Amino acid sequence: MLPRNDILDAIRRYTDPYRITKGKDFRLKDFDPGDTLGLKMDKAEAAESLRRGSEWLAMEQDVLYAQDSWSVLLVFQAMDAAGKDGTIKHVLSGVNPQGCDVFSFKQPSQEELSHDFLWRYAVKAPQRGRIGIFNRSYYEEVLVVRVHQELLKAQKLPPKLVGKGIWDERLADIARFEDYLTRQGVVVLKFYLNLSRKEQKKRFMERLDKPQKNWKFSASDVRERRYWDDYMRAYDEAIRATASKDSPWFVVPADNKWFTRLVVAAAIVEAVEKLDLQYPKVTPDQKKDLAAARAELEAEK
Ligand code: ATP
Ligand code: MG
Repeated sequence: MLPRNDILDAIRRYTDPYRITKGKDFRLKDFDPGDTLGLKMDKAEAAESLRRGSEWLAMEQDVLYAQDSWSVLLVFQAMDAAGKDGTIKHVLSGVNPQGCDVFSFKQPSQEELSHDFLWRYAVKAPQRGRIGIFNRSYYEEVLVVRVHQELLKAQKLPPKLVGKGIWDERLADIARFEDYLTRQGVVVLKFYLNLSRKEQKKRFMERLDKPQKNWKFSASDVRERRYWDDYMRAYDEAIRATASKDSPWFVVPADNKWFTRLVVAAAIVEAVEKLDLQYPKVTPDQKKDLAAARAELEAEK
C-alpha cells in the first residue's frame, strides 16, 4: 500500500482543479463539463477506484461517529439529469446507514412557506458525528426562486423587504449561515454537478427511448431547459458569493458519470481526512471499569 501522504496527493489531483474557495473571479464557463483530466477508464477500473474511495469514506465515517463532535454536510445542486441521485447512491454506498441522513428538498409546503427561508434546511443540519446529505438545498432559494420569481411571492414576505437587492441579501445570508455551521463544527462541502446542455438532452432522450427509464422522465424538466441560461447566471452568482476556504464549492464535471463520482468521493475523503480524527481515548477510570467488567464476566459460571 502507498504511504498516506502519497494517497492524499493522489486524491488532490482529482479535487484541486474543481475546488472553488474564492468567488471573486469565478466563471462557470471556464469549467468543462466533459473534463476527465485526460483519464480514460473502463467501467471496471472506474468502479474499482470508486470502491476504494467509498471504503475509505466508510472508515472515516466510523471514526466521525465515534468521536461524536464534528459533522459533515454535503450539499448537492445541479440541473436535472446531472446525476445527483446516482452520485449520492454510489459514493456513500459503503457508509453505515446509521451514521448518515439524506434529505431531498422539493417544492416547499404551506407550513415551510410560512417560515423564514432557511428554516426548513436548518432543522435538517446534521447532528454531531454524522454525515448529512442535502439533495437540493437552501441554494434553491437563489436558483429556482430567482429564475421563477412568482415563487418568491408565495413566500409571504413583507413587500417592503422585497427589493432589487434581495438575491444578494439572500446570498449573504447563506454565506453567513455556512460560516455559522463551520464554527459549530459542521464541515460544509458544496457540489455543483456541471452538466452540459447537450448531455442533458441526450439523457432526457434516453429516458424517452428506454422503457425501463420512462419513469424518470418528467415533461416539466424539458420545460425547465428553456431557462438554462437564467439558471447558469444564477449558479454563477451563487458560487461567486458563497465559495470560501471553509465551505468550498466543487464544480464537478458531470458529462461522464464515472468521473463525477470519483471527484465527489475524493473531495469528501480529503475533507474528512483533514480533520485528523481519532477514536476516543479510554481514560484511566474507564480502564478500571473495563477491568471490573471483565472480572465479572470471568467470574460467571
Ligand atoms: P429527480 O428529478 O432526480 O427525482 P429532483 O431533485 O429534480 O430529483 P423533483 O421532484 O423532480 O426532484 O423536483 C423537485 C423540484 O422542487 C425541483 O424542480 C426544484 O427546483 C424544486 N424546489 C426545491 N426547492 C424549492 C424551493 N425552495 N422553492 C421552490 N421550488 C423548489
Ligand atoms: Mg427532477
